[in-house]
Amino acid sequence: MEVLNSKQMANADKYTIEILGTPSIVLMENAARGIFEEFEKLSIPKNKIAVLVGKGNNGGDGLALARHLFNRGYKVDIIFIYPPEELKGDAKTNLEILKKYPIQMFNYNDEINFDNYDVIFDAIFGTGLTRPVEGIAKDVIINANLSKAFKIAIDIPSGLPGSNHNILGECLKADITITLARPKIPHVFYPAKKFCGKVIVKDISIPDFSIQTVSPYIFELTLDNLPLIYKREEDSHKGHFGHNVVIGGSAGKMGAPIMASYASVMSGAGLTTCAIFEQYYYFLSKYPEIMAFIIKGKSFYTSSELDELLKFISDKNVITLGCGLGRNHQTKEFVKGLIEECDKSFVIDADGLYHLDDSLLNQLSFRAVLTPHIGEFARLTGLNKDEILQNKISLAKDFALKYQVVLVLKSADTIIATPEGNLFVLSNGTPALSKGGSGDCLAGLIGGLIAQNYSLLDAAKLGCFTMNLTASILTKEKNEKCLKTTEIIENLYRGFNEIEA
Ligand code: ADP
Ligand code: ADP
Ligand code: MG
Repeated sequence: MEVLNSKQMANADKYTIEILGTPSIVLMENAARGIFEEFEKLSIPKNKIAVLVGKGNNGGDGLALARHLFNRGYKVDIIFIYPPEELKGDAKTNLEILKKYPIQMFNYNDEINFDNYDVIFDAIFGTGLTRPVEGIAKDVIINANLSKAFKIAIDIPSGLPGSNHNILGECLKADITITLARPKIPHVFYPAKKFCGKVIVKDISIPDFSIQTVSPYIFELTLDNLPLIYKREEDSHKGHFGHNVVIGGSAGKMGAPIMASYASVMSGAGLTTCAIFEQYYYFLSKYPEIMAFIIKGKSFYTSSELDELLKFISDKNVITLGCGLGRNHQTKEFVKGLIEECDKSFVIDADGLYHLDDSLLNQLSFRAVLTPHIGEFARLTGLNKDEILQNKISLAKDFALKYQVVLVLKSADTIIATPEGNLFVLSNGTPALSKGGSGDCLAGLIGGLIAQNYSLLDAAKLGCFTMNLTASILTKEKNEKCLKTTEIIENLYRGFNEIEA
């Protein structure tokens, strides 16, 4: 689904209202009905409900919702954060209707105890907020957060910005956020997403073609919009599914390329070879499906390994480079030689990224997927981690455009940026993945998919989605602390099965 910023949403609203002629109050009514519908589905105590009403359209949605709640017999109080006289337009119209209802309405004051309510609806601020919340609204948010009431944010938890993912100040911590028409950036990207709880998107009769007038947007990858997974022909053979060569490892970090290789096997690659130092060959004994390219008498890569390796990979499909590779300066020469002299596609992760410089990056145009985490991306760009975290979306986009690579910027939300300037986001992972090895699994999985002839972008999308989904399935059954990377790899079929279903 498209992920919009607040300006895009406002323009799509405007198009629907002004060009299509849908009256804005109809959209507000649809929002209120949609939210009410979702509320009815919840199995939670609902004896006493508060609707916190701000002075904008978000407040108007809250007022219209309060009317539906009252009509269906719920006991509902309306709590104004600002004097209701400040309401305008459709919000004011809804207020005028409610004034004729026998419904409790009062201004927020210190005596209100939010623990007296089972449910609090947050209709204070919508997606227009760009500054930290101050004054009474700030007190309200702090007090609401302290209460045990179930909190439902309308469109966006109050306090979050509408157009980016950074936390401005106090924000309402919602259990559920019911957003309208499309998810917005703070619903999908961390840290803002942490305040949203479960996000539900409700249609309010803004048609897809209204949304299309505000492109380009970020696209959230979900089960509905993933690249198609090919069925294997009945008469296929392993040669049809390519050969992924995994190059990585160094003393103390041999598990990394092996996990990447194992994930490549599980991705369906026809063949997977792991380059490995002879003294660590026994590591592979548990994984007989992985073939080995054995390097004698070494524990890290230097340019003396280049010639033989280049010969070996000349008829292979893709190189997955970097997992556990180490940061020896002699390894830098090796990486340089490999990229300069081998014209294959590359997936580059971990210490492989450490050795890249501007000139090598330029040589990777249109043939590489780079998979840095935030720390590695900071090093690649020469920025500090905070600068990356603040501007991760635009920095990912600029980097992929500049070097013409597919960039997978990994974290709790993962951003995929393309050489054409397109952006995709995934947030189907789990903190169970916050453990050494997950990145190796991902790199090998993407490499294995490229070996099978998926485009760099499709391989990146499918690789990220499948690993996240598999880990999420396992987390539900087991415990988020205890998942091992090899367990995730062994279970990748479950992620693939769900995608192919
Ligand atoms: P490693 O080789 O173990 O991946 P690096 O030295 O390359 O380690 O980088 C690790 C640094 O990146 C650490 O400071 C780690 O906390 C940081 N890092 C990794 N992922 C994230 C993230 N999602 N958000 C913020 N920092 C991160
Ligand atoms: P390592 O190199 O130690 O294996 P990386 O930091 O390179 O780990 O990769 C970690 C992987 O796990 C990335 O794909 C990242 O998106 C995912 N991941 C880590 N923490 C989370 C989280 N909290 N939620 C979702 N995904 C996560
Ligand atoms: Mg890593």
